[in-house]
Amino acid sequence: MTRPRLLVATANRGKVAEYEALLEGLDCELVSLADVGVVGDVEETGTTYEENARIKAWAGAARSGLVTLADDSGLEVDALYGAPGIYSARYAGDDASDADRVAYLLENMKGVPWPQRTARFVCVIALALPDGEVTLCRGECAGFIVEEPRGTEGFGYDPAFFVPELNRTVSELPAEVKNRISHRGKAAVEARKVLRNFIDEGRCQ
Ligand code: IMP
Repeated sequence: MTRPRLLVATANRGKVAEYEALLEGLDCELVSLADVGVVGDVEETGTTYEENARIKAWAGAARSGLVTLADDSGLEVDALYGAPGIYSARYAGDDASDADRVAYLLENMKGVPWPQRTARFVCVIALALPDGEVTLCRGECAGFIVEEPRGTEGFGYDPAFFVPELNRTVSELPAEVKNRISHRGKAAVEARKVLRNFIDEGRCQ
């Protein structure tokens, strides 16, 4: 019997691989937009993670006819009034690298004392069925913004984000530890429960 398919609505193959690890053991095959021949980006016109995740999941499900997972995530820094938030990928300009964004963040945080350097990563996963029904799963990971980046693992703002319980930046953690404590890992725990029900109910094709 063929396994039901779950579309991960991203052009980024790395993200599909990441969800393969996060949803390991679920009886479904993860496919990317490219795998199902869907091309062209969907504009993220929402003002919240929830709206953006929903827009991307809806578009994927409508175009493919498959149950579709899409996520939206970002970093919220209290001393910057929640910035960069949903604009995390574009913070420091369109052509900036991860290192540029970290440098820009740390520059903006210069002089902020440790107790006020609180921040959180947020991830919202939207699961859309082809009939338009959407379920949202949210995960958060709380920490502090360091003064100097540290570590070599991960991506994005990981070198700047300190997890007090582990006494490390996220970039100093192996992937399996990050997946256990991260905003995306926590949202994926919820998403896994929802998907298991969809599969058991025969709602995944
Ligand atoms: P998106 O959800 O793929 O649009 O990503 C939003 C942006 O938030 C990324 O480009 C990163 O800059 C940042 N971000 C989201 N998740 C993480 C993470 O796990 N580590 C570091 N940065 C992240």
